[in-house]
Amino acid sequence: MSGQDRPWSPRTLAAQALGHVDAATHGLVPPIHVTTTFLRDPDNQYRTGNIYARPDNATIREAEAIIAALEQAPAALLLGSGMSAATAVFLALQPGDHVVAPTVMYWALRNWLVADAAEWGLRVDLVDTSDLDALRAALRPGATKLVWLETPSNPLWIITDIRAAADLAHAAGARLVVDSTVATPLLTRPLALGADIVMHSATKYLNGHSDVVAGALATAVEDDFWTRIKRGRSMRGQILGPFEAFLLIRGMRTLALRVPAACATAQDLALRLSNHAAIAEVLYPGLPDHSGHAIAARQMQGGFGGMLSIRLRAGEAAAIATAARTTLWKRATSLGGVESLIEHRGSIEGPGSPCPLDLLRLSVGIEDVEDLYADLDQALTGA
Ligand SMILES: *Cc1c(COP(=O)(O)O)cnc(C)c1O
Repeated sequence: MSGQDRPWSPRTLAAQALGHVDAATHGLVPPIHVTTTFLRDPDNQYRTGNIYARPDNATIREAEAIIAALEQAPAALLLGSGMSAATAVFLALQPGDHVVAPTVMYWALRNWLVADAAEWGLRVDLVDTSDLDALRAALRPGATKLVWLETPSNPLWIITDIRAAADLAHAAGARLVVDSTVATPLLTRPLALGADIVMHSATKYLNGHSDVVAGALATAVEDDFWTRIKRGRSMRGQILGPFEAFLLIRGMRTLALRVPAACATAQDLALRLSNHAAIAEVLYPGLPDHSGHAIAARQMQGGFGGMLSIRLRAGEAAAIATAARTTLWKRATSLGGVESLIEHRGSIEGPGSPCPLDLLRLSVGIEDVEDLYADLDQALTGA
């Protein structure tokens, strides 16, 4: 992919959307392919490989190629949302298979695993995957087919050692899949650490502008399991629209600017907030006293992510009131956009959640750090 000895880096490839030049017009921005159907050749063949838009769309394939380049993977798949990407992996298993997932993880997926996937026939155990002894004890060699990780994990930003977990999963005959939404392909490459598949809610950092819902998977090998996932996407129609894929391509061009900016600001805010009188605890893997800091320093490069949480000394009501007093930070769910968001996570997760009720989750955008701190400070002290 380059005219020189050294291959271009993933950020270079993403900045130029792989250097695509439209064959018909020499346009530097790829067109949005909207056709749902394709002309069959006179001799009854489909030589372009395109038959029908549920499996076949050139804009989707271009976006997938960029994600594959970012994860340095042989193949990637885009799906209609992060949840459809995650569920496509689990639905490629067989009823009766045993899976292990983290106790603290993206709440909607945890709910789906515990309720819907169990009803469909998966046997699901949740463990603290950051505790390798607990993970080892949860594995049932031969029966466990998949270990799911999320690191850093929502909303406590717990760090799991991907390489160690991959070794344990593989020794038990299971695949390791990592939800790397928060780390992004810039900070961590799970496939290089032994994971079999990496998943992203592309709604978050990959797109980065809070205007697309999308999910992505990238694989270490194009094996039978990958083929089953791909077939499942097509058969169940868990697909992304071409306009969303186009926006995602556009968003990924600036991934390498947005993510380091969010990381630097999050690190700065985490340090300052650690000394704030209203705050009992700051949860951020970039802080030296975070339980996962040493592992994060090893498996994340260039920063510890743009997500942190704060726990308020004065409890739940004070947390909700603090969020109500922010003006620059927007009270909203989701993460990974250019605008900073604040959320009382307990209110959205509801009963059974491991999230403390005094916790506010912060998604750091690309605004000025002084503006962000000043708004939080006035909200924290304004009671
Ligand atoms: C948002 C999110 C998901 C789900 O993705 P959607 O695109 O909303 O379906 C999964 N995992 C993590 C870590 C997320 O933040």
